[in-house]
Amino acid sequence: MGSRSSNRSDLERRALEIIINSREKGILQSELWRDLNASSREGSRISIKLEKKGLIKRRRELANGRWTYRLFTDRMPPRIDSIFDSPCVRCDDFYRCGYGGAVSPNKCVKLMRWILKN
Ligand code: SF4
Repeated sequence: MGSRSSNRSDLERRALEIIINSREKGILQSELWRDLNASSREGSRISIKLEKKGLIKRRRELANGRWTYRLFTDRMPPRIDSIFDSPCVRCDDFYRCGYGGAVSPNKCVKLMRWILKN
């Protein structure tokens, strides 16, 4: 399970990086999965996960006659690269972490320390 879950969390991190870099405009889910070379099934799972963590928002959009989602974040860090210092980026629990779960951002001491220092 180790390498599979680390591949998944790696994909989540790369997805988040691309979404943040797309700034206010956001990116269509299908474009993102093409960039990441991920299947649409895996892609939707990741975007739901990132949304549950409160890191991104998903907005329904009609593109080329099909409903899809535009992914974006409205929580821009002051500097785009500053989020890459966050403990979540290198956290072994990144994949398991989510609101309401056993490992959760609102119970995380590492994250709290990082927020307080920034
Ligand atoms: S909130 Fe804490 S536990 Fe969750 S991914 Fe970030 S550093 Fe890891």
